[in-house]
Amino acid sequence: MKVLKFGGTSVGSSKNINKIIEIVKANEEEKQIIVVSAFAKVTNLLLEAAQLASIKKTAYTSVIEDIKTIHNQIISDLFTEKDKNEVLKFVNQKLADLKSILDSISLISELSAKSEANIVSHGELLSSFVIAKALQVNHIDAERKDTRELILTNTNYTNASVNFEVSNRQIQDYFKSNKAKVTVLPGFISSAENGDTTVLGRGGSDYTAAIVASALDADVLEIWTDVSGMFTANPNVVPQAMPIEQISYEEAMELSHFGAKVIYPPTIHPVLKKEIPILIKNTLKPEDAGTLITKTSKDKKNPVKGISHIDDVTLITLEGSGMVGIPGFSKRLFETLATEKINVKLITQASSEHSICIGIDDSNANLAKIAIDSTFEFEILKNKIKPLQIEKNLSIIAIVGDHMKSHQGISGKMFGTLGKNNVNIRAIAQGASEKNISAVIAAKDVKKGINSLHESFFKNNNKQLNLFITGVGNVGAKLIEQIEQQHEFLLNNLNINIRIVGLSNSRQMIFDDEGIDLSSWKEQIKKGVPASLDSFLEQVKALNLRNSVFVDITANAKVADMYAKYLKNSTAVVACNKIASSATYKKYKELKELSRSYDVPYLFETNVGAGLPIIDTLNNLITSGDQVHKIQAVLSGSLNFIFNNFTTETEFYDVVKQAQLEGYTEPDPRIDLSGVDVARKILILARESGIKINLEDIENDSFLTENNHKADSVDDFYNSLKTDADHFKELLKSANSNNCQLKYVAELINGKAKVGLKEIPVGHPFYNLEGKDNIVMFYTKRYPEQPMIIKGAGAGADVTASGLFADIIKIANN
Ligand code: ADP
Ligand code: ASP
Ligand code: MG
Repeated sequence: MKVLKFGGTSVGSSKNINKIIEIVKANEEEKQIIVVSAFAKVTNLLLEAAQLASIKKTAYTSVIEDIKTIHNQIISDLFTEKDKNEVLKFVNQKLADLKSILDSISLISELSAKSEANIVSHGELLSSFVIAKALQVNHIDAERKDTRELILTNTNYTNASVNFEVSNRQIQDYFKSNKAKVTVLPGFISSAENGDTTVLGRGGSDYTAAIVASALDADVLEIWTDVSGMFTANPNVVPQAMPIEQISYEEAMELSHFGAKVIYPPTIHPVLKKEIPILIKNTLKPEDAGTLITKTSKDKKNPVKGISHIDDVTLITLEGSGMVGIPGFSKRLFETLATEKINVKLITQASSEHSICIGIDDSNANLAKIAIDSTFEFEILKNKIKPLQIEKNLSIIAIVGDHMKSHQGISGKMFGTLGKNNVNIRAIAQGASEKNISAVIAAKDVKKGINSLHESFFKNNNKQLNLFITGVGNVGAKLIEQIEQQHEFLLNNLNINIRIVGLSNSRQMIFDDEGIDLSSWKEQIKKGVPASLDSFLEQVKALNLRNSVFVDITANAKVADMYAKYLKNSTAVVACNKIASSATYKKYKELKELSRSYDVPYLFETNVGAGLPIIDTLNNLITSGDQVHKIQAVLSGSLNFIFNNFTTETEFYDVVKQAQLEGYTEPDPRIDLSGVDVARKILILARESGIKINLEDIENDSFLTENNHKADSVDDFYNSLKTDADHFKELLKSANSNNCQLKYVAELINGKAKVGLKEIPVGHPFYNLEGKDNIVMFYTKRYPEQPMIIKGAGAGADVTASGLFADIIKIANN
């Protein structure tokens, strides 16, 4: 024999009820007990009507009309004219009874728990009648029985406790003589010894079904609902959640206690004792496997089975030196909570016994404060303990799994993941059984917290990366193009879901927490809101998305000044802008340390050699224990271009102009020609090699003339290049006569750095360096004579964008 329970949505429309009829028919051979909930929304409407009546709001009559409409619609779809009348008669009679109860409540303006239970029971009374009749007209041998005659409870009307001894006997006696193939029972409702109607708490139809299944030793308890099983997390919060194939009773109990609403927590208990399996199925997709709940958890490979959360939590903390070592404090505290009927969701106490921290429902916070402060009035007066501290708007998130205890590192991974995403943890609880680790966090962080935990514990999940890009010039536009083009590839091959959530140029900015549509970003940004560095950061904070990355593709010092704030917000920083890493050593170090202490990446590969993997290679050498003795490099694509094109047939002035026009120099060519740009690059390489060094420490052997240096505008500078043309001709002549090439070289030798123009002889690796290429030679402990060489295009939008992209992917793989 099977017990099947159909929830509110499953019975919420004629289409779904027809599904139920098919499910019942498919199983016709076996005896079936069908437990049903009220039609979707009806329980809430009944409670709303009761509230309205209790405050004399006549709108309760229109709520009754709404309830009537729901039923009439289903009835007219399900029944022919002939069969309809009997059903309508029953429904109208029940709604008339309901109206008179509500009228009298309105008259006395008081809603007792007893009346509330009576009112709310109407939902299941009506739905069970309609469904039993629908089965009958479909030629199924079905009968309806009022569960109030089977389940006996105490008089805790709206959340009644079951008397199992009597209930089991009543159920067994009834079914002994009941011959119908199918019996329909209203879920949720029960009665007290005095005959009053009681109910089993919100979501209680699951419990009704479990009580009946247990009393009758059913073969299986099937919970039919609107999702295909118990999911690894609430599917409304975590889009990537998936149904769990099999789970143990205890795991299911933990998950449901911590918010997995798909099953009402008390449900497991009656069937657990008899080891009756529970199968959670989707009424709308009966072909889906669903979740099987049995005694043991079979899948030992994945120790974490699910992640759940409860909202509306308040933490209350009782604290004071007067508590230490004195027995009885906890007893008084918990007695007070019990007397006030305040349910405890989580408890933590440090071994110092200095404070006890308890999680309760937000709605009980004020009551708890008054009651507990009154219990400890004397101790508070004597300053032995502090008045109760209250912190509202919190949530509990929990990871659950029977096999977590035999796997090390799970809590580390849980807290590490939350920490990396800037989710502050207010309290932690872990039972000694280690089936559940829970943490209290701010309600605003729940979505981010659960999703990042889900990504880290369920391996096939896509990791979502949320980019906030500032600076959308040539390089920015290329990066966006590359991201758009690679999106599917990354999703399918690396399980990385890259989204650009914020975009800003110097004038406007746009945001979309679902990810900006990249096919039209140029049009969108024109319609964006005015840009500001502070409001960009504020938006990043407000959106509060997991795995957030700030990407700086500007050359702006003010943007660089923002990095520390991003890192402190646990937002990774990827910078193309080299101002921050070449600023003072103190500033550079501060950012590196923030990155370490907040465990969030700060990457700037493109600061040196555009897309060439120079910094990454250097980092790999250093972290693997190598030591850098010498670096020799040509690091300026622009200077290389200029000296490669400067011949006896060309004028230096024209070549510089051409380089600028072709976009190889900075807008102000003095930054390149003065050597400052190269000095910054060797500075960064020196720092990444572990040397404490500043820009002033770098020897800059300039090839420019005094005149050139004196020019205080770009135009003046060009003029001075023209005037001093002979000086440059001399440089070239000398190189040619020595059979050398002119290259602007950066060097780091034994901790000392210098930059300057050099004559490079034939045969030297720099001699044939073409176009805008860069080259770096690392001489290290492991590469003493033959250096490690990295060479390739060191400038250009495409390669720079791909260097940024590589940093971003590195973060995703982190
Ligand atoms: P019913 O009306 O059938 O009893 P409920 O609304 O009580 O259904 O429970 C099903 C709902 O539980 C789902 O639609 C889903 O929104 C929610 N839910 C929360 N957590 C989970 C979870 N871990 N797995 C499945 N569903 C969950
Ligand atoms: N109808 C009740 C409720 O909505 C019981 C249930 O559906 O399980 O809470
Ligand atoms: Mg339910």
